[in-house]
Amino acid sequence: MKRILITINMMLVAIVANSQSCPDNNHPHAIDLGLPSGTKWACCNVGANSPEGYGSYYAWGETKVKDVYDWNTYIHCDGSKETCLNIGSDIEGSEYDVAHVQWDGSWMMPSQAQILELVSKCQYTWTRKNGVSGELFKGPNGGTIFLPEADFWRENSRAGSALDCDNDGLNKETDELPCTGYYWSSTQSSSKPDCANCLFFSNTFVYGDSQNYRCTGLTVRPVMRRPPADVNSDNIIDISDIVAVINVIVGTDTNPAADVNADGRTDISDIVAVINSIAK
Ligand SMILES: [Zn+2]
Repeated sequence: MKRILITINMMLVAIVANSQSCPDNNHPHAIDLGLPSGTKWACCNVGANSPEGYGSYYAWGETKVKDVYDWNTYIHCDGSKETCLNIGSDIEGSEYDVAHVQWDGSWMMPSQAQILELVSKCQYTWTRKNGVSGELFKGPNGGTIFLPEADFWRENSRAGSALDCDNDGLNKETDELPCTGYYWSSTQSSSKPDCANCLFFSNTFVYGDSQNYRCTGLTVRPVMRRPPADVNSDNIIDISDIVAVINVIVGTDTNPAADVNADGRTDISDIVAVINSIAK
C-alpha cells in the first residue's frame, strides 16, 4: 500500500512539474512546451503575479528596478554607451541574471539560443488574455505560454506603443503604433558592446534575434534548464534515464541529451553520471 501511495505521489509530482499550462494561481510555473532542449519556460514575467501581467523592467545585467533607464543610471557603464563594461558574453545563471537573483536559483534568463528555439519550434498567435494583448506560443507538445506586449522603458517612461492595445494589436489612442513585446536574453551582442540580444514581437512579426541598448528597461521571461541527467526529460532522474543512455550506446536512439557529461560522446561514463545524480 505504501509503495502504491509513493508511486501515485511521484506521478502527481511529475504531472505538476511537467505542466503544459498553469495548474493553479500559484505562479510561477515551469511550462513544458515539448522543446528539444528540454527547456521549460516560466508562465509569467519577473515581477508579475499572473501570465498577462507586465511585471518589472530591468536594464541588461541589472537586478533591481529603478525610476530612470538611461546610460547615466546604468551600473555596467561609466555614463555613456562607449564605456560599457564587459560582464560576460552570457550572463545566464550569474549574479547579473535577474531571474536567477529575484527568483529561486533554478530559474534563469533565457539565452539567445533558447529564445531562437522558442520562436522556431513553437506556433505563435497574437491574441488577448484577460484583456491584455500579446503573443501566445504553442509548443510541439501543445503546451502554451503567453507573453504580454509590455513594451519597454527608456529614461523615465514606458516607450514603444506606450499605451495599451486594441483588439487589432494597435495602440488604443493613435490606432497606428503597433503594440510590442521586448524580452531580454542573457546573451550579449557579439558585434555591439552596448547592446544585448532580445526577443521582439508585435501583432505582425516575431523576431528571436533582435537587439536593444543594454541600458533600456525590458521585461524578462525566465526559463528552467533540464538537469543533464534527466535524459528523457520527464522531470525524474531514475533508471529510465539509464535506459535512454543505453539505447543511444547500442544505436537504437540518437538522443543528444544522452551525452550527460557533455564530453562529446555517449558511453559508460554517461551512465555513471546518471547514477551519481540518482545517488545525490
Ligand atoms: Zn502559472
